[in-house]
Order: sequence, then structure tokens, then C-alpha cells
Amino acid sequence: ILTVRGGMTSHAAVVARGMGTCCVSGCGDITMDEANKKFTLGGKEFHEGDAISLDGSTGAIYDGIIPTVDATIAGEFGRIMGWADKYRTMKVRTNADTPADAKKARELGAEGIGLCRTEHMFFEGNRIDAFREMICSETVEEREAALAKILPEQQGDFEKLYEALEGNPVTIRFLDPPLHEFVPTEEEDIKKLADAQGKTVDQIKAIIDSLHEFNPMMGHRGCRLAVTYPEIAKMQTSAVIRAAINVKKAHPDWNVKPEIMIPLVGDIKELKYVKKFVVETADAEIAAAGSDLEYEVGTMIEIPRAALTADEIAKEADFFCFGTNDLTQMTFGFSRDDAGKFLNAYYDAKIYENDPFAKLDQNGVGKLMEMALDLGKPVNPKLHCGICGEHGGDPTSVEFCNKIGLDYVSCSPFRVPIARLAAAQAAIAQKK
Ligand code: PEP
Ligand code: MG
Repeated sequence: ILTVRGGMTSHAAVVARGMGTCCVSGCGDITMDEANKKFTLGGKEFHEGDAISLDGSTGAIYDGIIPTVDATIAGEFGRIMGWADKYRTMKVRTNADTPADAKKARELGAEGIGLCRTEHMFFEGNRIDAFREMICSETVEEREAALAKILPEQQGDFEKLYEALEGNPVTIRFLDPPLHEFVPTEEEDIKKLADAQGKTVDQIKAIIDSLHEFNPMMGHRGCRLAVTYPEIAKMQTSAVIRAAINVKKAHPDWNVKPEIMIPLVGDIKELKYVKKFVVETADAEIAAAGSDLEYEVGTMIEIPRAALTADEIAKEADFFCFGTNDLTQMTFGFSRDDAGKFLNAYYDAKIYENDPFAKLDQNGVGKLMEMALDLGKPVNPKLHCGICGEHGGDPTSVEFCNKIGLDYVSCSPFRVPIARLAAAQAAIAQKK
């Protein structure tokens, strides 16, 4: 995937990395001519159907196809990974949204899922139709009817994830992105949605218009969605708990204990409010099934206010997971999707040495993380803490995470080996 706009932590890049699909996001040198299905780069014109190769690590773009092989851990590489596992103290989990990604990550040594972005499950097959019906619902009843169509699909996805993880921990994050990202843009899809909901095309268009936000990443997303529509959190809780109960029944020897993660919390009252629906729903599901399933409810720490008030938040959270993509965005006050446009000037002017979305800014964002741990842990000594922003797969950031005492880092499947090695190097350096 090659995009003209965006950057290292744009959702496009993050999702591609998670899928193991090579992506160079934000190549501003491209002159795009969409109408004629061609673009110009490096003085050459590329047409639809032409082949290019990408190096997602360096951002290099090559003309033509470069042969590749699938990544596996074998031979000398496997031996070094074995040594790394002997020395590291921090766990390495993965960010995975599909059973296939989870399986690949397990092969590469992941010891759990630190982040499952549930929204990515809504695109498959015709489930996007029900999801769009949910978004364009005007009453709770309409929304619940659409959610009821999604529930079995989501439950099935979670069952497959639990199966793939074989009793290792799985953190499932509830719906996070702004809803307008999912609405139809093509006339034909708008008409299909209107017909399904018994509405007119104009009514659907008006709803879509009303979802427009000037700053969507600072808008109606994360736990704010669950605050306005608790029925979404209730449906996701039922799906997680029912899936876990089924997999636990099939594999009584596995330690299936769902970790439900609430995103974008900035105030303890938000977490309390959403958690109430989660706990009520989960407890009712567990009682109805006559199960003894245990579960945890935790939160992402990705808004500076959450880090600053972590002593309050820790009272209600079983775990913290640092979402350093958003935490970086909100601490610096610039957009993770747009900063790529001006960061080069900052490197040239020696204001920044690195992209803070790629390498953790230890002095600023890192200080907030340390503060959150110092405030949270004494209040809740059982609190377990990890990181699931893209920094979880960057060696110097992994070293910092080890230093401040995180229990795990979580990164995309193909970065798991580098995180294992970096965690071992950090543990050895710390001993010295
Ligand atoms: C984060 O913000 O660091 C995070 C992991 O969540 P997302 O990238 O999905 O916003
Ligand atoms: Mg986030």
C-alpha cells in the first residue's frame, strides 16, 4: 500500500502493519492523476496495472517487482530468539484483529494479544451493512436491532481469537474510531442503506452529514461512543463473554480470562459510567450460562488527562495499556495523520531528531507514562500495565518501557521478534 498522504501512525499504516502488508504512507512526492489512473514519481509515469515494490521499513519505493520470501523464525535466527527469551523479563504481546494475524504472531513468538481493534472486524463480508444501519439509527430500538445482527458475527470472531491464542491473554478494545469512517460514500451504497432502514436517500444523506466533524480524532470516538450509545458496549461485552464461555468450555485447561479495554478515557467518571454497563452485561451473561468465567476491565491511557489523574483511574481499572499513538498526538497537539507534512522541516531545523510517532518521546510522553505508573500502582497494586501504541515495536522505546517497569509491550505481528530481542537487550543492560 502506497499513499500520498498520512504518516507512520496513520490508521492506514497501522492497519497495514497489523496485516503484515507492506505500506509506505505519506509519499508527498507523488503527483496523482486519479482521473487517468496514473501517477508520476521520480520522473516516471506509473499506470494502473504497473508493478512497484516497497520497503515499509525504510520507505523506499522501487520500480518493478522485487522477489520476497515469507518471514519465519528458523535456524540461527531461532537460536538468537531463544536466547532473547531466556533473558527478557517483559512479555511481548501482539496487536492483532484477526485469527490469521494472531496465528502469525504466535508463530513469531507473541505471548498474547495486547490490542484487538474490534472496529476492523466490521468490514468483512456484509457485516458492514448492519454496522452502517447501526450508525444511521435514530432510536435506541433501531440501533439495538442492527447491533443484534452484528453480535453473532463478533462473537464468532472472538471465539476464533481465543482459539488461536490457546489460553494466552487477549485484550479486546471496544469500538474506537469516529463513526463517519464507516458510512457509505457511493450513491448505490447509500440507496442500499436507505432501503434496508425504510428511509429515504435524503434522510440517510442528512444523517451522514450530521456525523461530519472538523477534528474527528478529537471528536466523537473512543469511550465517548459508549457514553452516547451504551448499547454498543453492551453488545460488545455480550460477544466477548459468550465467546470466552464457549472456548473455556471446550478447553477447560486453558486460562481464558477476557480483558475488556475501554479506549480514550480522560476522566474516571467516563470509565465508571461505561464500566457499569460492561459489568452488568458480563455478570448477567455469566450467570445465565452458569459459568465461573472471570474477566477484567481496563483502560487505555492515551489522553494526557488520564495519565495526570491515573491515581483516580486506577481505582476502577484492572489494567492500563498505554496508547502512545494518541498519547503522542495529544501531548504534542499535532495530528498523527497530518504531522508528516511538516515534520521534515523540524528535522532539518534540528528541533526534532526523530518522528515522535515512531520513537517514543521519553522526555514528554514518557514522563506522562511514568507519572501514570507512579500514581496508579500504589492505589491498585494488582494493576498490570503495557503499551500497545506503535512504539511497542521500536527497540529504543521498548528499552524505555522495560526501564519504567511495564509488564508487556504489544506490537504488530511482524515486529514481535524485534521486540523480543529489544526486551532482552534492555533486561541485560538494566542488570549491568
Ligand atoms: C494508540 O492510540 O496508541 C492505539 C494503540 O490506538 P489506535 O492506534 O487504534 O488509536
Ligand atoms: Mg488510540
